[in-house]
Amino acid sequence: MKFGTKVIHAGVSPDPVSGAVMTPIYQTSTYVQEAPGVHKGYEYARTKNPTRDALQDNLAALENGAKAICFSSGLSAMDAVIRLLNPGEEVVSVNDLYGGSYRQLVRVHARYGILSRFVDMSDASDIEQHISDKTKMLWIETPTNPMLNIVDIEAICKIAKEKGVLVCVDNTFASPYLQNPLNLGADIVLHSCTKYLGGHSDVVMGAVIVKEEAMSEHFYFLQNAVGAVPGPQDCFLMLRGIKTLHLRVQRACENAARLAEFLKTHPKVNRVNYPGFESHPNHEVAKKQMRMFGAMVSFDLKGDDFEAAKKIMTATHYFLLAESLGGVESLMGHPASMTHGSIPREERLKVGLTDSLIRLSVGVEDVNDLMEDIENALSVI
Ligand SMILES: *Cc1c(COP(=O)(O)O)cnc(C)c1O
Repeated sequence: MKFGTKVIHAGVSPDPVSGAVMTPIYQTSTYVQEAPGVHKGYEYARTKNPTRDALQDNLAALENGAKAICFSSGLSAMDAVIRLLNPGEEVVSVNDLYGGSYRQLVRVHARYGILSRFVDMSDASDIEQHISDKTKMLWIETPTNPMLNIVDIEAICKIAKEKGVLVCVDNTFASPYLQNPLNLGADIVLHSCTKYLGGHSDVVMGAVIVKEEAMSEHFYFLQNAVGAVPGPQDCFLMLRGIKTLHLRVQRACENAARLAEFLKTHPKVNRVNYPGFESHPNHEVAKKQMRMFGAMVSFDLKGDDFEAAKKIMTATHYFLLAESLGGVESLMGHPASMTHGSIPREERLKVGLTDSLIRLSVGVEDVNDLMEDIENALSVI
């Protein structure tokens, strides 16, 4: 089955009771038993729910994994992944990690003896020197936020495999339409389904997809034992959002490419970060592992004026100033004061995260309106 068919059909079949084409929302917490222990495979809805099952089967197919396990948010999915580690073991992750993932590692798991280190993975051959005898897992994000760095998943997985280290890829920014890390050698894929998978900024959810069925036991156990499960209504909305994933992401990527080109030639813009540019340091890797170059673009201003950046962000009409990404509507954010405000300025500047850096999550509106919107906003400074 090709991707554009999977999003609509994988894991989903008409309801056997009514013939309903759309997966019913099984809004129930429990299921009747004919006799103690005699049931249809469903006992209690924390453990199992048919709407959730359909979504999980669909997600497993999209990432070419053995199983998918859904959680109530991307971060609760991450929590389940990090629980593969024992105290004293270490996770080595990219140094421009999503802020919430960084916070979970250093403020939650660190208390229970799980070590974490943050390194530059833009040159895959460097990774070997960062793997110690404590390293149990590599945590990759690519493209990264907000600098849009690209990590060579295949090259890193090859080294990790030789060393017996697990690899988890947070594939949120790319979505399964653009990139399938399990095919490139990763063991686990994580999604904040809140973003491109849901695609309409109306659900918070996370998922883990595993390459080997054996590893799914750990995640089903935690889904039930810890209980951070998504509700049936949210699972339905997620299934509905996924049906147009390929169309939305394709259009958003096309729009982003046009906007990136437009920004590159604008006299007030300093630098545009976009993996689709041939001048991007890892453009060739992006070309190799992604179907298109994504719909995230970031740029900063000549003179790097914090106030000017703020002015732009209150002057747009269609680009809404908000956290998050991956919805049909275009959003913009100011990492230095929003998502990355807790990182010391010196540290931010080292990775190129300047005061005037603006991050765009390009949506699927008409690209001419989007360009006009940015052009007008840039004219106020
Ligand atoms: C949003 C996000 C998360 C966290 O997901 P939630 O659904 O908000 O818990 C993790 N990783 C990345 C890359 C994200 O963008």
